[in-house]
Amino acid sequence: MAEKILLSSPHMGGTELDYINDAFNKNWIAPLGENVNNFESSVKQYTGSKAALALSSGTAAIHLALIEAEVKEDDIVFCSSLTFSASANPILYQKATPVFIDSEEDTWNMCPKALKKAFEKYESLGKKVKAVVAVNLYGQSAKYDEIVEICQKHDAVLVEDAAESLGSEYLGKKSGTFGDLGIFSFNGNKIITTSGGGMLISNDEEKIKHALFLSTQAREKALHYQHEEMGYNYRLSNISAGIGIGQMEVLDDRVNRRREIFNIYKESLKDIEGVNFQPEIEYSKSNRWLTALTIDSIDTYDLINYLGQHNIEARPVWKPMHLQPVFKDYDYISLNEDVSKGLFERGVCLPSGSNLTNKEVYFVCDTIKEYFKAL
Ligand SMILES: *Cc1c(COP(=O)(O)O)cnc(C)c1O
Repeated sequence: MAEKILLSSPHMGGTELDYINDAFNKNWIAPLGENVNNFESSVKQYTGSKAALALSSGTAAIHLALIEAEVKEDDIVFCSSLTFSASANPILYQKATPVFIDSEEDTWNMCPKALKKAFEKYESLGKKVKAVVAVNLYGQSAKYDEIVEICQKHDAVLVEDAAESLGSEYLGKKSGTFGDLGIFSFNGNKIITTSGGGMLISNDEEKIKHALFLSTQAREKALHYQHEEMGYNYRLSNISAGIGIGQMEVLDDRVNRRREIFNIYKESLKDIEGVNFQPEIEYSKSNRWLTALTIDSIDTYDLINYLGQHNIEARPVWKPMHLQPVFKDYDYISLNEDVSKGLFERGVCLPSGSNLTNKEVYFVCDTIKEYFKAL
């Protein structure tokens, strides 16, 4: 293959430029305008959430979610360990203390039993837990029927990091709507992109209104510049939002294509020993943002390097936060076994972009099979 087969690259639908041109024609080259409003409406309509706020990144959305959850200095925040660092960094922005929670094998996401154990531990220490950041890895929803109940019981605000799971479902509800606050990312590698952007959603319209205020420098209503709270410059531009509207029009196609690619991999690689694909639990539909699997029988780095030599970009599964030097001083709660560490050590993500051709996906499968044959 001449062209490098990428893990997940942007895939435009075709109408994005029309919305950008519209912004140019009206000279709305600003972080406000029709495209921003329409992009928010589109996400509200799609998810069924009452309020939505378009932001410059998913990370900014998590940061504002934690502020709206009133997370402050020295507060405890529970967070999935197996995730991208952007789930956890905003906890440090707030000078709060992250405590990492292990995954379960069923979903690869936050283990409800470990979460319960963590609440019990911190309550016995007399410490209040302000918020929980739960992640939906590679599109698969966490078990929110259990997680929501645990958070409510302990009076903690649930932030659903749905950066990777826009278009996924669980128990008949759209991903992102299980938390008190939910976030999406439109970074270049996500299922849809605005070249960079994010969204904060909630049914609590007051919280979203306040987050909007903070995201636009916390300017009080006055002719002069009056500030009573610390603000941020986190709003999405009207140009980027134009891309977002076009991308929302094709979101369901993107989900279907990523699921198709997953099925090709699953069918083609089923005879390789020790291969297990990330499960899709009952009553859930994953957008299969990335096809992720574990392989028991080999050194996964060796396979990833081999694919690289054949112009194929594959990656390990996220390295858990409790194994990251930047978070080494923080607590980690798991049951008997370190599940997220095992998933990291055995996990591989395969090229999954919705713009890959079947020929390219089969080439990846054949290259993997060649690797195993040569062992
Ligand atoms: C991509 C991602 C984010 C961050 O989103 P950005 O838009 O890149 O800031 C947060 N959490 C998870 C799980 C992600 O995959």
